[in-house]
Amino acid sequence: MLSQISCKEPSAKDHTLYKQSRKKSKLYTAKVDTSDLTKILDLEFESSAWDYWGERCLSCGTCANVCPTCYCYGVEEQVNLDLRQADKTKSLHSCNLIDFAKVAGGHNFRPASASRLKYRYYHKHRGFVEAFEEALCVGCGRCGAACLAEITPPEVIASVRGKE
Ligand code: SF4
Ligand code: SF4
Repeated sequence: MLSQISCKEPSAKDHTLYKQSRKKSKLYTAKVDTSDLTKILDLEFESSAWDYWGERCLSCGTCANVCPTCYCYGVEEQVNLDLRQADKTKSLHSCNLIDFAKVAGGHNFRPASASRLKYRYYHKHRGFVEAFEEALCVGCGRCGAACLAEITPPEVIASVRGKE
């Protein structure tokens, strides 16, 4: 697929158009206080803020679908009854979907939307920071703009910090 895509170096006009579109864009404008966030997340694992946002969350997975840094995927396998053919399909998944942590045998490790939403934030702002020294979030705001429940990272993080 990539070999069929032709591209060229951007011209000065392209740069100007890009800068103009950035000025018009509402993306990358949110302010989030991330100082000591990993430590705060460690302390606030049992915070009632997770229940509050979890109750609002529709578990639709839209946030992960529009997120440029989400990469979690699911694998589905189907075997024909004659055992002569099988398909394995890999597709984008979302940690907010109800079956994200469901395993063989039917047990679901995260049946509550609050726990799924919480782990989304812990992956992006806690675990990834510990492993790679930066958050798995570029602050684009796409997830908040697309969320039907109007859940945005700045608001969630502020509430976990006790600022709302
Ligand atoms: S888009 Fe909003 S409602 Fe849907 S899963 Fe994400 S946080 Fe929940
Ligand atoms: S604000 Fe962060 S979590 Fe939301 S879509 Fe952008 S990169 Fe993903």
